[in-house]
Amino acid sequence: MKDGFYRRLLSWWFLPLVATGVVLGVVGGAGWVMWGVFLRVTLGLHATWLVNSATHMWGTQRFATRDDSRNNWWVALLTFGEGWHNNHHAHPRSARHGLRWYEVDVNWWGIRALELLGVARSVKLARTPRDAAD
Ligand SMILES: [Zn+2]
Repeated sequence: MKDGFYRRLLSWWFLPLVATGVVLGVVGGAGWVMWGVFLRVTLGLHATWLVNSATHMWGTQRFATRDDSRNNWWVALLTFGEGWHNNHHAHPRSARHGLRWYEVDVNWWGIRALELLGVARSVKLARTPRDAAD
């Protein structure tokens, strides 16, 4: 709340969505608004909710986290890496959820790119015994 940018973002979060809807409506009509705003937002929200529902029911547990969190590959694919949820519960401060080469984590790639560009700083990562051996 100390940063003015984030305070404004909290108040005006809908502005990019409305602007996108207006542009799509002017350029392509109501059909474009349905695909580009309503369907896109609906699918995005449901994919996000899958993280806290499906990954607490189906998948595998790498870490003994004393909860029901699971790593779920298909949720990870739909959510760009958020489906590695047991990894996240075991290492909640880690920006990287996919901890193995085969755990696709597109969100992490984006954060890493921002870090390399100097935009993201103090990025936290999980330290696992295998990481130390790599
Ligand atoms: Zn969870």
